[in-house]
Amino acid sequence: MEFNFDFFSPEQSLISPLGEEKGIKIFIKRDDMIHPYISGNKWRKLKYLLIKARDQNKNHLVTFGGNWSNHILATAAAAAQFKFKSTAYIRGEKVDNSILSLCKLFGMNIHFVTRDEYKNKEELFQKYHDNDPSSFFINEGGYSIEAVKGCEEIISELTERYDHIFAACGTGATLAGLAKGASKFQPNAHIHGIPVLKGGDFIETAVHNLCPEVKINLHTDYHFGGYAKTKPELIEFIKNFCKDTGILIEPVYTGKLFFAVMDLISKNHFKKGEHILILHSGGLTGFLGQQAKF
Ligand SMILES: *Cc1c(COP(=O)(O)O)cnc(C)c1O
Repeated sequence: MEFNFDFFSPEQSLISPLGEEKGIKIFIKRDDMIHPYISGNKWRKLKYLLIKARDQNKNHLVTFGGNWSNHILATAAAAAQFKFKSTAYIRGEKVDNSILSLCKLFGMNIHFVTRDEYKNKEELFQKYHDNDPSSFFINEGGYSIEAVKGCEEIISELTERYDHIFAACGTGATLAGLAKGASKFQPNAHIHGIPVLKGGDFIETAVHNLCPEVKINLHTDYHFGGYAKTKPELIEFIKNFCKDTGILIEPVYTGKLFFAVMDLISKNHFKKGEHILILHSGGLTGFLGQQAKF
């Protein structure tokens, strides 16, 4: 069955002096406009998981994440909207923050587990949900084959032809979906990932575990010290970008992504006349955990 959820994700051109100077056309796929909390790629990754849960008569979504996770919030909001119960296992000691407050407002049950317990999510699920037939396991970040299928649709919606398509990477599921979609609908496009964690080469394996056949390009030097870490240069870039375009980006994912693309353009990584698409994967609530830096 389908979910009744009309959303809007336009493909917009970005007027940028740097792009004009280098003869590069830049477009943004505005998945940030899909929903304020079931945001961006998190909706894409959840869609077919929700359909599968519904098809299996499961009405309780169980998932996992850190305490600022966009995926946890998206799952809570989607669960409420589509009439599922939801439970999240959060890594680490008990905290209160604005993301978890929103999750609770959407009716999610929150449990904190030690980092050790968190390591084996299947085991956690078995321990607490094995005798509840209504529970449906959703991996951290929504990482799954169903997520790939949802993210392929980002590509099938595109109306322009692109030479390069860029996305930020956490688990690599979104990039896998973009690469798979491109192999069907954008045969000339090179797919580029910007890992937001240190040691981002693991994304290669993460993508190929889901889609062995796809080709991707990773740029692993734009993590700014690691997950949710920043440098003054990144904060400056984000402030200027938001002020100059009216499009919000945040420091955890999309700030690093847009910084990377602009940096690659300035270093003449692309040929004159090429078309680049940047996936705005949403997640703007990530800003709430980083406000003190602005
Ligand atoms: C979760 C997230 C990502 C990472 O997606 P993966 O599929 O895990 O690689 C990218 N951008 C935003 C805004 C996110 O919230």
